[in-house]
Amino acid sequence: MADRDDRVHDVLVVGGGPAGSSCAYWLAEAGWDVAVVEKKEFPREKTCGDGLTPRAVRQLADMGLEDSLAGAHRYHGLRSVAFGRTLELEWPSVPGFPTYGYTITRHDLDALVCERAAKAGATIFQGTEAQGPLDPVAPSGPGALAGCSGAVVTAKKEGRHGELRARYIVVADGANSRFGRALGTARDRAYPQGMALRGYYRSERHDDPLIESHLDLRDANGDVVPGYGWVFPLGDGRINVGVGLLSTDHRWKGLNTARLMDAFVTQAPRSWGIAPETACGPATGGRLPMGMAVGPRTGANTIVVGDAGGLINPFNGEGISYGYETGRLAAAYVAEALAGGGPAALADYERHLERAYGDYYRVGRAFVRLISDPARMRLCVSAGMRSRAFMAELMRIMANLMHPETPGLAEVGFSGMVKAAERLERLTGRRGAP
Ligand SMILES: Cc1cc2nc3c(=O)[nH]c(=O)nc-3n(C[C@H](O)[C@H](O)[C@H](O)COP(=O)(O)OP(=O)(O)OC[C@H]3O[C@@H](n4cnc5c(N)ncnc54)[C@H](O)[C@@H]3O)c2cc1C
Repeated sequence: MADRDDRVHDVLVVGGGPAGSSCAYWLAEAGWDVAVVEKKEFPREKTCGDGLTPRAVRQLADMGLEDSLAGAHRYHGLRSVAFGRTLELEWPSVPGFPTYGYTITRHDLDALVCERAAKAGATIFQGTEAQGPLDPVAPSGPGALAGCSGAVVTAKKEGRHGELRARYIVVADGANSRFGRALGTARDRAYPQGMALRGYYRSERHDDPLIESHLDLRDANGDVVPGYGWVFPLGDGRINVGVGLLSTDHRWKGLNTARLMDAFVTQAPRSWGIAPETACGPATGGRLPMGMAVGPRTGANTIVVGDAGGLINPFNGEGISYGYETGRLAAAYVAEALAGGGPAALADYERHLERAYGDYYRVGRAFVRLISDPARMRLCVSAGMRSRAFMAELMRIMANLMHPETPGLAEVGFSGMVKAAERLERLTGRRGAP
């Protein structure tokens, strides 16, 4: 990278994770000149549950990557465990989605997708950190992001500083999003946020055909807390074990996820062989901004995707597919802006997000509010676990695998939930708060 690269790219993408790489792929594939800055060098470790649902697989297939997943562990559904009951639920058959998911470490997955973007023509600056926006321009009004003409960057190994210029800037720097904050994004604290921790263990059941989630996650005193524990088999001798705490409620703020993890390790079935001796290293954690918690997401020439925009699914903490999807959506609107639509085209991205996810995330936020109370959570989960048919439909809602054209119980139930969630937000006058 030159200290000062006078070339003006069509697009600069800050962050080469799922959202940034997908955005770069779709833009490069359409023939635009795209540069990506990624502060780490691929392959790199990334704290995650490593679970891909059929929604994520669909996006990877659309990027021509499904064959590259041949070495990953394909699984067929979810084993749901709570209050002494176990239900094994296959992924449903929904048009447009496969009936399977994969588990694959982010170490391998993110390198694959970034490489795909590079093959499509994107220029990737790895080991290069965006320090902040170049020539920031004040937002055009309230509810808009600042603009900028690129990023001030540092090539970390060489310790060299430089500038990268572009007509449009895509913010894809993840949950902490320092670049997004510098342009004016903020997380609405009334919205739900997840905290999660995961570790790898060696296990004889590493190639189990189902992923497992425990919906009666307990703290060290044995009290149920809102969230779930998971065991995701990786098929490579290891399992990914973790806990996620979901809440909008301040009463969970002091809860220590490391202790929650310790408690879960003793709660998980012994057959998984989860023990200090089988641990592959210390557990690591991160935050999950969800339910469209972060905004604004567009400015005159800036646009935010993935975790940087708070776009994780509040029902299940899934963010990889939403990174791919929102990266792809942003690519379409940036391409329209580049083709002559100008800044107005970016504002349409926000409207499209609302159409695509607004109702779903509204219900998700109400769901988190409901289960933030342990008594309600216990009541709902233990009642739900008595009916396989109910849980199968609920799984379709929670994984966002519904199909409006062929409405079944999940779709009908969901439209009732949308009305209830809208009423709730009107009554409380707030969009995410308890
Ligand atoms: C413990 C845990 C478990 C999870 N499990 C799952 C799961 O099983 N399935 C699932 O779908 N989701 C899961 N998630 C959520 C998922 O990890 C995220 O939603 C997903 O990574 C979002 O992708 P992204 O591209 O928006 O952000 P990221 O994946 O965070 O990518 C951002 C990239 O930007 C780079 N970057 C950051 N700042 C800069 C900068 N200034 N300059 C250059 N580069 C920068 C980072 O190095 C990173 O590569 C989990 C999250 C956690 C914390």
